[in-house]
Amino acid sequence: MSTYWNKPAETMEREEMTNLQAGRLKEIVTRLYRQQPFYRSKMQAEGLLPEDVVTLEDIGKLPFTTKQDMRDNYPYGLFAVPMSEIVRIHASSGTTGRPTVVGYTKRDIGIWSEVAARSLVSAGLSRQSCIQVAYGYGLFTGGLGIHYGAELLGASVIPISSGNTARQIMLMKDFGTTALACTPSYALYIAETMREMGIDPRETSLKVGIFGAEPWSERMRQEIEAQLGIKAIDIYGLSEIIGPGVAIECCVQDGLHISEDHFYPEIINPVTGEVLPDGEKGELVLTTLTKEGMPMVRYRTRDLTVLYREKCACGRTLVRMSKVLGRSDDMLIIRGVNVFPSQVESVLLGIGETSPHYQLIVDRKDNLDHLTVLVEVTEEMFSDEVRGLEELEGRIKAELASVLNVAAAVRLVGPKTIERSEGKAKRVIDKRKL
Ligand SMILES: [Zn+2]
Repeated sequence: MSTYWNKPAETMEREEMTNLQAGRLKEIVTRLYRQQPFYRSKMQAEGLLPEDVVTLEDIGKLPFTTKQDMRDNYPYGLFAVPMSEIVRIHASSGTTGRPTVVGYTKRDIGIWSEVAARSLVSAGLSRQSCIQVAYGYGLFTGGLGIHYGAELLGASVIPISSGNTARQIMLMKDFGTTALACTPSYALYIAETMREMGIDPRETSLKVGIFGAEPWSERMRQEIEAQLGIKAIDIYGLSEIIGPGVAIECCVQDGLHISEDHFYPEIINPVTGEVLPDGEKGELVLTTLTKEGMPMVRYRTRDLTVLYREKCACGRTLVRMSKVLGRSDDMLIIRGVNVFPSQVESVLLGIGETSPHYQLIVDRKDNLDHLTVLVEVTEEMFSDEVRGLEELEGRIKAELASVLNVAAAVRLVGPKTIERSEGKAKRVIDKRKL
């Protein structure tokens, strides 16, 4: 029943996969030691030689790589080939400090297209699909990553990029778009705009959404699926590793299969760095096994997830990661308690009477942290009597206190008060840093 883009890779037996990964790891470590000064000096500092890495378990001897390492070696210090071999450069938006830069060889672009094509097939797309790529094009990897994968697959690509929502919707109708690729928060914004324009999403050809680039909860998936009348598939990737296509859900929608023949995953305790066994929640660490331009060894993604290897009903044997459960660097510490924006999102969507737009504001008064959650109410609720709103506010407050273990003030705000995003949503405003 399932179709694959690359069946041998996606259904490989575990032993064969382990051997393939170990061989590729050895190769990349040897190459980096010979050609890449940053990695060589890091290995030398640990007293390591390439021949110390023989089995997959030996990866634990190698030091981690972090975003700070990329900033410290800005712009090209982590590249492992001469610039003449580099055919593409992407960079993070870098809201603070230097952006992080990644470089791809021709072969890297081929691998990226391959894993992106695998992802699209896993999401149910085929040559017959018409995909509207509403991720940003440019230095951000979202747009071009999906674009190349879709072209390799042979689908029809609409490279519209993000923004201009009314035009997105017009083209979606007129061009017969069957698949939409963007951030989940932008998908909700598109749904909202469609309603305003008097367009029923069910009257369009849209069947599936491929959403990623920010963590989103299971409840948000239900919300998107209900509002747009589509199947919402979670895609995972980050430019430091390659871009979108590192992992993707299948039709089962229970975890994302990692293309582990190219990206080797580990889960660590984000505080101690200790490697955790399968099934335990921690920070995802990835090693690129085949990349040439800018290989990454044990890159700390800061994304929190769980790995599991139980057989998947879709037939793929590739290891699965859970939906990203939050980011270790998005974690707010409020009066000593760890708070994740995703917990707030789950509470709000669970109550269900508010719109899925919210913002956390953290402030410090008299040396005490104060968390305020702005919650947008729906048009119907807003026109309701004050008592109804007060009752709702009280319920959200009580539910948040029991889930977060810290008191939060709740402020209901009118429809469309919270700024909409065409890319990643801004969920937290931490005024304590100012
Ligand atoms: Zn599966």
